[in-house]
Amino acid sequence: MEKPMASESKPGQKGRETMKDHRQLVILFLLVALLCTGACSSPNTAVTPATTSVMTPSLSASASPTVFSLTPQQAYQELVDLYRPATYLESAMALADWDSGKVMPAKAGTWRSETRAALAAMANQIRTNPRIGELLYRLAPISALSAEQAANLGWWNWDYQRRTRLPVDFASQESELIYNAVGAWQQARSADSFLSFQPALQALVSHFQEKARILGESGGHPYDVLLADYIPGWTVARLDSLVAQLKPILLALVRDAAQKTGPTLMELVRGGSYPPDAQKALIRQMMTTLGFDSEAGLLWEGVHGMTETIGAHDVRISLPYDPANPFPALLAAIHEIGHGLYEQNLPSPYGLPATFAAGLEIHESQSRYYENHLGRTAGFWQFWLPKLQQAFGGKPEASVDQLVDALHQVQPSFIRTQADEVTYPLHVILRYEIERDLFAGTLQVQDIPRIWAGKMKEYLGLVVPDDNAGALQDIHWAMGMFGYFPSYLLGSMVAAQLDAAMRKNLPKLDSQIEAGDFSAPRQWLQEKIWSKGSLWVPDTLVAKATGSEPDPADYIRHLQSLVSPTP
Ligand SMILES: [Zn+2]
Repeated sequence: MEKPMASESKPGQKGRETMKDHRQLVILFLLVALLCTGACSSPNTAVTPATTSVMTPSLSASASPTVFSLTPQQAYQELVDLYRPATYLESAMALADWDSGKVMPAKAGTWRSETRAALAAMANQIRTNPRIGELLYRLAPISALSAEQAANLGWWNWDYQRRTRLPVDFASQESELIYNAVGAWQQARSADSFLSFQPALQALVSHFQEKARILGESGGHPYDVLLADYIPGWTVARLDSLVAQLKPILLALVRDAAQKTGPTLMELVRGGSYPPDAQKALIRQMMTTLGFDSEAGLLWEGVHGMTETIGAHDVRISLPYDPANPFPALLAAIHEIGHGLYEQNLPSPYGLPATFAAGLEIHESQSRYYENHLGRTAGFWQFWLPKLQQAFGGKPEASVDQLVDALHQVQPSFIRTQADEVTYPLHVILRYEIERDLFAGTLQVQDIPRIWAGKMKEYLGLVVPDDNAGALQDIHWAMGMFGYFPSYLLGSMVAAQLDAAMRKNLPKLDSQIEAGDFSAPRQWLQEKIWSKGSLWVPDTLVAKATGSEPDPADYIRHLQSLVSPTP
């Protein structure tokens, strides 16, 4: 894994913020990209690949005779020792990336970029050491290993095979293309012109088409290879089937929701003053109350809500603050606390693949659980609204019911990161369909703005006014993160499934939350999800926690409960 984890948050992000120093951000984004696009997980990542407890190394029998004199435990231990320096290097990269996005002087960008590239090359060299191939081959029959060891082996095997099947210079080429594309994307956003982003994006798409060709299986959809980096177990066929089921329901819900009225969040907070320092103090209190360990993590400021894991006992949350409205920071905080609690409660020892998070949709399900199923409920605000009003001179002057209604308001909008719970999945489906068709070869890069506009009109009834409100709004494509978007949809879906299962197990949940006791959901998630790391593939993890593999039934019920259809 390139890096443990950093995750974007949905709420409170400003769609058109001015980008800061180009190089600074490029480095930050490269970091994030590595997290998710490399052999790992999330932007932010700790996304574990398709780890299974039964792996089948398929290396050629060119192994050195010395490996056959090792016992399975000796061979396994040698692998642990070989990988450890790569984990340290990746921790150093994570710290360099966090620093470059927060405190690094602007002129230090070039040196930092070179430093990071050198560290990445060293880590890749360690991870492609031929000795690793020999040891994996030696361990092909794994009966003498524990379930945790077998899970580690499954991941190492997957990572090793993918890395060594690609040309030697493929990774550095990818870094360069991403570096160029992020720069082009920033300039394109300044000019509000997709056309100026097009050549760099085309180069990146061609690169990933080549990657899909090299790593793809015959008969599979080219996009399947890219999905495997983020959401192991999901393919185009499976996602298409899910989308076909969800889309008509979502479109109907958006139509029904248009009939609803009531004060918006902006109307509720109007006239108040919400100094960022007071917001931070409240958020620190929230972090502690919800169980975040401040001695194993910290809170910082950032342009976006983000959680980044630097290494063992070092999980960092960054949040944006709006002095006119505390809710973007509060909701982002609740979301990121979900990511942060997951990272802080993964099993020990840090650094082995089986102790990392189990795929991006599981990571996102934790943040969505906290944000949507805890942080938008009446019980949660029964406890927190008085504290909010105390911190901000009686504002917002609203009842808990008014606030919860406002938090559930459905309003089609252009920017994904500012979308409500019901329209949000349609934003994700739009991006998924474009990516899928790009890699199928049925859609060309130059057609993206036109297709985007058509889908926005069809799904949300909106006419896209410009490229910044359309295909230029997300950085993911510039970072080469093709295959990432569906994890947002799956995360929301799995969150609803976990919430439904949890409520069956914990009948007093609402009254506990109302009283400010947040230990019950934390303990339930700890037992069912966090403590399991990547021992199982995500489907199995969800099935063991809820009784069935990821399924949209609870998600649909949840969204329907937010929108009362008019007679
Ligand atoms: Zn998230």
